[in-house]
Amino acid sequence: MANEQDRLAALDHYDVLDTPAEEAFDRITRLVRGIFGVSMSTVTLIDGHRQWFKSQQGMPNAETERGPALCNAAIQYSRPLVVPDTWHDKRFADNPFVTGAPFIRFYAGVQLRSPEGHAIGTLCAMHDQPKTFDAAKLAILADLAKTVTSELELRTVATRDALTGALSRRALREELSRAISLARRHRFELSCIFFDLDHFKSVNDAHGHGIGDQVLRACVEACRGELRSTDSIGRFGGEEFVVLLPHTGGEAALAVAEKIRSAVARSRVETEAGHLRVTASFGVAALDGGDIDVDQFIKRADTALYAAKAAGRNNCQIWQSAEAADPGLLRRVLKAGQITFNGGRSTVECTIRGLSRSGALLQVISTAGVPERFKLGVVSDELHRMCRIATKRDTQIEVVFE
Ligand code: GH3
Ligand code: MG
Ligand code: MG
Repeated sequence: MANEQDRLAALDHYDVLDTPAEEAFDRITRLVRGIFGVSMSTVTLIDGHRQWFKSQQGMPNAETERGPALCNAAIQYSRPLVVPDTWHDKRFADNPFVTGAPFIRFYAGVQLRSPEGHAIGTLCAMHDQPKTFDAAKLAILADLAKTVTSELELRTVATRDALTGALSRRALREELSRAISLARRHRFELSCIFFDLDHFKSVNDAHGHGIGDQVLRACVEACRGELRSTDSIGRFGGEEFVVLLPHTGGEAALAVAEKIRSAVARSRVETEAGHLRVTASFGVAALDGGDIDVDQFIKRADTALYAAKAAGRNNCQIWQSAEAADPGLLRRVLKAGQITFNGGRSTVECTIRGLSRSGALLQVISTAGVPERFKLGVVSDELHRMCRIATKRDTQIEVVFE
């Protein structure tokens, strides 16, 4: 059963189950039907509980239960499975797919193998009449099966990072973009975590790049152990990773980051150079219904990560809007405002160039005649605040709210 676990992990690595039909695979099953003159052909993947067809010609369903599937029998063998006539093969004579739809009489299946040799499924040719299938035909089917596996491999090269198995940067960005639209449309919560290994250069310097690579892999493993199956992890750059957490708000994401931080810090990586330990710093950002794109989302998490590095590394920080983080911080704005004084009888027009929770930066034609205290109105914001001048220079006035 441990082997079945590994087999399923190998299948999972391809991330192909329940994806739409693709021409590259349909072309192959069409070829099988044409070359061998059979009525059915499938690219079958054997999941834990079902057989699922990435491509199928002449089959009534996209999936069936696993147990009686002939392809499920095929993956148990080390050699291709050829059954010229199921009615005369006691293994299959009373199989429900033989006695019932799709009435398989002839079956030839070649295993689809992962690079480590796990049979994740088959490419098969099936017919509702008996057939002979010689070695030359089997060699063609085997070649086509290899084409299927290379096609599957190619897709993972594009979407997976070869060293760690995490999503590639491009795939991660696509995933983020999908998750952001989904979260916006359905008002789901969404958070991301950006983490970066601490002082990783010194690991490479001390032990070499190969050992550094082992440590990177181990960190991703440690991280995976803390995630749900709906979360994804991607390699953003050298030793920088992004974790995407759907249906998770900022505070919960911060707790997840803390769990990952602790798992990474606890793990001892066994290498030829002995047991190594590393730590990482984490930045968290939540979407919070904000109207931001992939880059802005990552940027926020990265800003929080920077704060975690600055706070001494091996810790987690959550992104806060600049204003929330520092109420005194000025946001650049450009708004029309009025300075009112003298009991409302005098007004001076101004432009507001900066606003914070505690004050504003104003520009006027002339500061002459503007008193030390006045009321500031910002029509567009329906803001009316009593102000005191903090500094005054040329045409600029900095005020604090009272
Ligand atoms: P900090 O705590 O500030 O993040 O320090 P650092 O040393 O981790 O930061 P820096 O960004 O200067 O160094 C990152 C290092 O990661 C440099 C590079 O050699 C190493 N690195 C990047 N990609 C890989 C990789 O694929 N394998 C290995 N072994 N090392 C890598
Ligand atoms: Mg880095
Ligand atoms: Mg680093």
